[in-house]
Amino acid sequence: MSRAETFINKLKQADIQLYRKLVQYLFLATVVLIGIKFTLFVNQLENGMVPTVTRPPGIEAFLPISSLISLKYWLVTGIFNPIHPSGLIIFLMALVTAVFLKRGFCSWVCPFGLLTEYLNRLHRMLFRKNVTVPPWLDYPLRSLKYLLLAFFLWAIVLKMNAAALDYFIYSPYNMVADIKMLYFFTNITPFAFWVLMALVVLSILVRNFWCRYLCPYGALLGILSFLSILKVHRNTETCTNCQKCTRTCPVDIKVHKTTRVISDECHACLKCVAVCPEKDTLYISALRRKGILKPLAYAVMICLLFAGGSLIGRVTGYWQTGISNHEYLFHVKNLDMPFYQHNRGQVPTYNKDAWLRMMQKMRESGDQRYP
Ligand code: SF4
Ligand code: SF4
Repeated sequence: MSRAETFINKLKQADIQLYRKLVQYLFLATVVLIGIKFTLFVNQLENGMVPTVTRPPGIEAFLPISSLISLKYWLVTGIFNPIHPSGLIIFLMALVTAVFLKRGFCSWVCPFGLLTEYLNRLHRMLFRKNVTVPPWLDYPLRSLKYLLLAFFLWAIVLKMNAAALDYFIYSPYNMVADIKMLYFFTNITPFAFWVLMALVVLSILVRNFWCRYLCPYGALLGILSFLSILKVHRNTETCTNCQKCTRTCPVDIKVHKTTRVISDECHACLKCVAVCPEKDTLYISALRRKGILKPLAYAVMICLLFAGGSLIGRVTGYWQTGISNHEYLFHVKNLDMPFYQHNRGQVPTYNKDAWLRMMQKMRESGDQRYP
């Protein structure tokens, strides 16, 4: 390989990961802005004000269970419910990404994916190399995220009928799920704090601990990514078997041994493509050696998908929640009431009796705020 080719290859390598980092930081900046705006919104509610700050709809991206319930409700009843509509749109965009662009959501969009990459760096600083979990332990641990996913699918897709879905979606618990999620972090309990700390420590000791072993969202995207026609391909004729691709793969896929990466763990991070020193030997495409997708095109597509989803939601009126600021104020004032509490260990639900009693009182007093 000539010096010029080596230089161009190095530039290409830098470019691929530069695009990915730019996209990751773009989404991280969006998430931070959403977090700040939502905190200000809730602060105003706590001070008894009808908020002047607009609630950022993107906060619903952090309510995947509510979104899964909304998705089933939509499929069963044809109603795109107005409680957390942007959550459902973002959830749908993540599913579409998996079907068309593999698990790119995990390594291009998700802020936890970015955090994991930094924790992986700490892992390398600590051990001075990538420590891999032996297969006899790795495979059972990897099944944990599928068990969690199976639980949610069983509890929601199989067990909840239209009435139960309706009941949950319009419940006060679901209406304030975003506020309760914020309180989970701002008023964190000692138990939750130590669980989070344990996850951080485990993620430093074991690379990708959360994403690889526990994240049910990643499990769902991993299954759907099998459908993706896009795959990382290896040209065996030009491959020199240097194994750089395998050494750099963050999820330990033996890239140098395969001609096509077919794995639920592949995040489409394109690190293997970036590091390969041989021109067009590793590439992402739908077909072998045809229609090679340039990393820049991949970056643009993933951004356009989410921007397009948000735009469609805004244009069709399914982006902003149907809950009014006055209703939010009512909910925040009453958050200590039992029907806002989550029944631990059960299907996501709320205290039905307390809520029915409350509704009865409201009806008796002539308050028709709820159906
Ligand atoms: S980095 Fe490229 S050349 Fe080296 S083993 Fe992987 S595919 Fe082959
Ligand atoms: S196979 Fe390549 S694209 Fe897939 S996770 Fe490994 S390094 Fe990333």
